Amino acid sequence: MKITEVVCQILRIENVAAKTASCQDAVLVRVRTDTGLEGIGEADSSPEVVKAIIDAPFSHNIACGLRELLIGENPLETERLWQKMYRRTMYFGRKGVGITAMAAVDMALWDLKGKHFGEPIHRLLGGKQHDRILAYASILFGRDGAETKSIGERWRAAGYKAVKFGWEPMGPCEALDRELVRGARAGIGDAGVVLIDAGCVWDARTAQRRAQAFAEQRIEWLEEPLRQDDVEGYRWLRNRSPVPIAAGEGECGRESFRPFIERQALDVYQVDLARNGFSDASYIRARVEEAGARLCNHCYTSPLTAAASLHWLSTCRDAFLFEDCVEDSPLRHELTLEKVQAEDGWIAVPDRPGLGVTLNEDFVRDHLVSESR
Ligand SMILES: [Mg+2]
Repeated sequence: MKITEVVCQILRIENVAAKTASCQDAVLVRVRTDTGLEGIGEADSSPEVVKAIIDAPFSHNIACGLRELLIGENPLETERLWQKMYRRTMYFGRKGVGITAMAAVDMALWDLKGKHFGEPIHRLLGGKQHDRILAYASILFGRDGAETKSIGERWRAAGYKAVKFGWEPMGPCEALDRELVRGARAGIGDAGVVLIDAGCVWDARTAQRRAQAFAEQRIEWLEEPLRQDDVEGYRWLRNRSPVPIAAGEGECGRESFRPFIERQALDVYQVDLARNGFSDASYIRARVEEAGARLCNHCYTSPLTAAASLHWLSTCRDAFLFEDCVEDSPLRHELTLEKVQAEDGWIAVPDRPGLGVTLNEDFVRDHLVSESR
């Protein structure tokens, strides 16, 4: 079996709002073979930047676009191809978007591998340890405590036992921050799980003060209180915070996660399959489990990455929560024929071959803004 075509497609919904939500556009990588199979992957990044990395022509031996490196290769050799892509993109890759583009390819290769063998990806990764996972509704804060409370009530009424609120307007004002967290707790109720995603807004000492204040509302974790590169800040904070500290969604690949794991800087490592692929996510899983910390997925894009996250997370022994983005975007609702969403607060792990989801080609056609092959 040989790779014959690498198609890259950018989709975008009509009305893109100025908010921190990456489900308003998508970049798909579709890897096709001489046996007629197709694997599908996506990256969570700026779609046009990822597409440029797929499309770039050969510049020199360690600066080459991904398509050119993949044509003619056997798609089943995922680890060798990961290493080949890593080495041959060193002058623009290594961390960040170079790895993110590789992650989209890797997701497609594992989808292909699953379809080729007729097995779900979780089985190829070594076997799922969960048939379903408690899902948390992942959504942005309201403008104040009252609006945040009503958002919490909405998702509680939809059956969720856990809700995460994130990003703006949290950060500059302690009084408002406390009000937002009180609103979150009031909305989800005493028995529910409340998660708070600060959105990289404080220094470590301010974050410690907030963590102490938020502990009164029994939050399950405080996510990304510091800027993403502040490894020492996270280590300092983790050793002092009364609530668990979660981060990692911005990290692309094993090299990005390495300093956090080696410094034991986090309680919960959030791994985005659309930035790490299955190959590196599996490696990161093993290292985090060895270090005695916990894992969760990060996913704020489409049902493709939600399905990929479920295959991976279900192989994690201590998986305890699944990030279920509930942003109201047509891309989330219509990109695949299958719904990958929690029911009554729990989400089922897909069992069909590969990712186990099918693209809605009508939706793809209607939202296509750019394509290369
Ligand atoms: Mg987050």
